[in-house]
Formats: sequence, structure tokens, C-alpha cells
Amino acid sequence: MLREELVFVGTCDIAGHVRGKGFPAGDIDARRRKGVGWTHSNLMQTAFGPILDTPFGTAGDLMIVPDPAAEVRVDFADGSASEHFFLGDIRNTDGTAWECCPREFLRRAIAALNAASGLQLIAAFEQEFVYTGNQHRDGDAYSLNAFRRQGTFGESLIAAMRAAGVRPDSFLAEYGTRQFEVTVAPTPALTAADHAVITREMARAAAHRHGFRASFSPMPEASGVGNGVHIHMSLQDASGTPVTYAPTGPMGLSTSAQHFCAGVLHHLPAICAITAPSPVSYLRLTPNRWAPTLIDIVQQDRGAAMRVCPVFATADPGDTARQFNFEFRVSDAAASPYLALGAVIFAGADGLRRKLGVPPPGSRVDELPHSLGQALDAMAASKAVAEWFGPVFLEAYLRHRRSEMHHVAEWAVNELCNRYAEVY
Ligand code: GLU
Ligand code: MG
Repeated sequence: MLREELVFVGTCDIAGHVRGKGFPAGDIDARRRKGVGWTHSNLMQTAFGPILDTPFGTAGDLMIVPDPAAEVRVDFADGSASEHFFLGDIRNTDGTAWECCPREFLRRAIAALNAASGLQLIAAFEQEFVYTGNQHRDGDAYSLNAFRRQGTFGESLIAAMRAAGVRPDSFLAEYGTRQFEVTVAPTPALTAADHAVITREMARAAAHRHGFRASFSPMPEASGVGNGVHIHMSLQDASGTPVTYAPTGPMGLSTSAQHFCAGVLHHLPAICAITAPSPVSYLRLTPNRWAPTLIDIVQQDRGAAMRVCPVFATADPGDTARQFNFEFRVSDAAASPYLALGAVIFAGADGLRRKLGVPPPGSRVDELPHSLGQALDAMAASKAVAEWFGPVFLEAYLRHRRSEMHHVAEWAVNELCNRYAEVY
């Protein structure tokens, strides 16, 4: 069959979908500079496709410019087209960053953290999804049997991630029906978000090659457990020394880590609308699903919004300092990793700037928002979030999410779960 290789350049947008355009691979050099054409209202495409509301109308031109550091070329060696794509930045036609570019939002958050503290954030995303190639059997949770029955999907996924430049850490059959989880090695924040996007796409790509689907929907079935996206984080100083751990600090957290985590807790009602940004996200954030329901930080508790993670079999104190990390659990794959991690970092940077403290044990603990509507109201009321986004991006974000929320408002719970499972 006559074929010519194609390349895709895209971004992970407000809906959490990777969208962009393709071109012949022979044109890569020219495309490195001018990218692919895009328009403002492209950002307003909802999870289901249609633009339901937009402040931008039909006017305007932008470009998505590929980042050479975020190139993926994976040949599954089955005769199918290579997965050749770049993640990129949405720019104005003069080459400057567009104020609503999700990747630029994360870059600005990283800069805010640096300005507030001189620190940089290291992160790793732990992602859960449903692989439709497995028939459910009772007793599957964490079982070798379920791990075996996924066949060669897991091996394809791990090989694809490695070929794409992502270092896999683990792959397992999770607790839920046909649910799996994949974790990766920690990297600096922007790379971590790129790797989260690439990992999702490699799971979808590997599943597709096997004739099935990987669905990352936050709540694939109303009666089951959700798919979480947990963000593991640690802080480093300018010399690369880990500064998250202090043996005598509360829960082992250093002063900097306490400020950072306190900032995240402080802003959680508002940033929930960014990290758990779909109506189904709030079906996940309910009791007895190993998902958070409170605005809390707890040592080694998988039900908390923020978990201070354990360290294992350390040989020396340096080992402990290197392994020590905390985990943000109020996120899912309806969120763009750039926006979710960006919001968490902005919130943590604010905690560092204001020297906020983590609540002492026994303090009053508030509940997370119970619906996307509540979370969006908290976001709209937050002066801090308005500063992080700027007026244009804030309005676009709120209109995007609210229009999707109204679009699905009449769907019964089962339909809601089914429809979101199809698009994520
Ligand atoms: N599935 C749970 C969630 O929605 C997480 C389970 C776990 O601790 O890995 O966040
Ligand atoms: Mg898990």
C-alpha cells in the first residue's frame, strides 16, 4: 500500500483532549518554526466536540508550535501508522505566547514558584484507566489473573512509553472493574505534564492496536470506583538538592513543603474546578472509593486530598530525602495535566509566599466541593485564580466548563458515566 508518514502537532486543551493538526513528515523543518494553524475558539471545544459557548467567535489566527523536547515517534511494528506527534505551545502569529495556552499556564506557574521560593517542583503522574480488552471477573482486583488476561496490551504500553521517552515505573490491575494503573518516574514539572499526556496517548494507542480502548473517564460506571490521576510531588532547591523532607517536621514535611501543601489546601475549593473539572469528577469524589472527599493532608492515607507518601527500605538519610514526596489526589483525566499541575503549583507558590502552615492535627476539616457547579463558583470567586489565569483565559475557562455542564445537566447518572467513558 502506498503510504507517506504523517506528523501531528497538538496541545492538551481545556477539555483534556489532545487536539491539533497533521502534515507530511517531510515538512517537519518548516513546521518547527511556523507550527500548524489554530484559532482562538478551538480552545472552546468541549469534551464531546462541539463549541457550546465562546468569547472568541470565529475570528483570529494562532499557531501550535511543536516543542522538539516533546516529540513522540513510536512504531508499533504491526504495519500501522507510526504514532508521530509533537506536543506544542499555542502562540500568536507573531510568535509570542497566547495568553490562554495551557502549557504556557504551567510555565507561568513554574516561574511563580521560582519567584516565591527559588525552588523547582518535581512531579510524577499516577494514572488509572479502564482497558476494555479485559472481561471482568469477580476477584480481579490487583490479581495476577487480571494482569495476565490483559494479554500483551501492558507490554505494548510499556514499550511505547519507553520509546516515547517516558520512563515507566509500574503497571498493575487496579481495584475497579477492568481497571489498570500506570506510573512513571519523576521529572521536572513541565516534562511531567508532557509525560502524563504522552502516557495517556500511548495507553490509547496500544489499546487501539489491540482492537480495544483505554478509557480514563473519572467515573466509568456509576456503581464502581473512579479513575484517579494522582500527582506525586517533591521540591528541589536550585542545586537540585531535595528539600521536601525534615525528620522533625509535621509528617516529615520541611518548612517549604509545609507552606506549599498549605497553599494547595487553602486554594483547593477553587482549584478543584481545574483538577476535577467535569460533572463526572464529582461522582468520583464521594465516600468509600479511595478518593478524597475532604480538604485534608494526612500521612499515608489514600483517602486524603493530599497524602504524605511513605519511603521504603532506605539505606541512608539521603535516600529518604530523595524518595520523600506528597501526593495530590483530587485530580482526574478530564483535566489537562498542564492546567491541573499549573493550578497546584500556583497554589503551592502562594502558600510559600504567604508562609501558610499546614493545619495542626484535630483542626476543622472542610469538605471538597460536591459538584462542578460549586467548584466553578469557588473558582470564579477566587482573586488568586483570576490573577493566575488573567481575565481572558479565566472567562474562556469558566464559559467552557459551564457550557459543558449545562449541556449534560439532563443526563441521568448512567448516561452521564457512559457518555464520558466514550470520550475520555
Ligand atoms: N481509584 C482511586 C481514585 O479514584 C485511587 C485508588 C488508589 O489509591 O490507587 O483516586
Ligand atoms: Mg491506584
